[in-house]
Amino acid sequence: MRVYNFSPGPAMMPEPVLRRAAEEMLDYQGSGMSVMEMSHRSKVFMDIAANTEARLRSVMSIPDNYKVLFLQGGATLQFSMVPMNLLGRFRHADYAISGSFSNKAYKEAKKYGDIRVAGTSEDRGFAYIPQQVDLDLDGGAAYLHYCMNNTVYGSLWDYVPQTKNDVPLVCDMSSCILSEPVDVSKFGIIYAGAQKNMGPSGLTVVIIRDDLPGACLPYTPTWMDYAVQVKNGSMYNTPACYGIYLLGLTLEWLENLGGLAAMQKINREKAAMVYSVLDASDFYKTFIDKPYRSLMNITFKARNEELDAKFVKEATARGLINVKGYRDLGGMRTSIYNAMPVEGVRALTDFMKEFERENA
Ligand code: PMP
Repeated sequence: MRVYNFSPGPAMMPEPVLRRAAEEMLDYQGSGMSVMEMSHRSKVFMDIAANTEARLRSVMSIPDNYKVLFLQGGATLQFSMVPMNLLGRFRHADYAISGSFSNKAYKEAKKYGDIRVAGTSEDRGFAYIPQQVDLDLDGGAAYLHYCMNNTVYGSLWDYVPQTKNDVPLVCDMSSCILSEPVDVSKFGIIYAGAQKNMGPSGLTVVIIRDDLPGACLPYTPTWMDYAVQVKNGSMYNTPACYGIYLLGLTLEWLENLGGLAAMQKINREKAAMVYSVLDASDFYKTFIDKPYRSLMNITFKARNEELDAKFVKEATARGLINVKGYRDLGGMRTSIYNAMPVEGVRALTDFMKEFERENA
């Protein structure tokens, strides 16, 4: 029996994708082998990679002046790759801090240049998103970095920040990519680890405007130079082949669903199901201000810590797994990425209501 897995990532994948991968496991389309066994330079695999890139470009409406890279190292390696590549021209950059991962990105970048905090919501425990008027922006910065969806706290930027003097905008979209349409042309770089909305861990997608690679800091490892990856079509070394294949299948599933506009509608409906239970309750408490609530990661607490623990235990017994909150934050976090079916969300909300009735 498959469980409803509310993990922040690696997370559920669409069942049709897993079934298709299972069907093709031993013999991919008459090749006589699994995608895992193919040379990354073989025609059959090059076609898979080209197909995945074409589908991503189409689903996200990526303009022609952007390159798509399939890398490894997770979103975390981008915390270093971004500054190493972009601080070559100007040695300073701005970071907006709205949660745990943007703070990690900021700390990493400080190793490579003069990094400023352009805005933060730390004063209220990241319960809100710094607003445009409050951002203190440097018009001469190499870039402005932010993280669109804060996986740990469960908040989402309600706007795309505007930079000064066309400073490139760099965005960590790990936990919201493909959840709703975005205007790629507003960004210099978009990056995301695949293990939430795109496929398995091990694959990191980078979408980069084509004028940005080519000015990395001199000690940047060859592999980490975006220009090298662009020149080699993400095949400077062996890429995460199987992840690239599964991303292609996931994108095909998204296309069949109606693309990102349709996905956004479903995601809004799923999130509203959970938030409406929370809002109607005196028993559960949320900590993110309403305008900034994430559609992907929903955080809340029961009346006390014992009840939090009981909630997690009883949910798990019902096949609603990984609902425990992030270790530093406590409470619950239910991640409802693209692949979480509406039935899974309904099973969760039914349980939440029942748990409240029994324990209020
Ligand atoms: N950024 C965000 C927003 C994340 O949610 C995560 C992972 N949970 C990371 C970065 C780190 O990603 P990875 O594990 O792929 O390095």
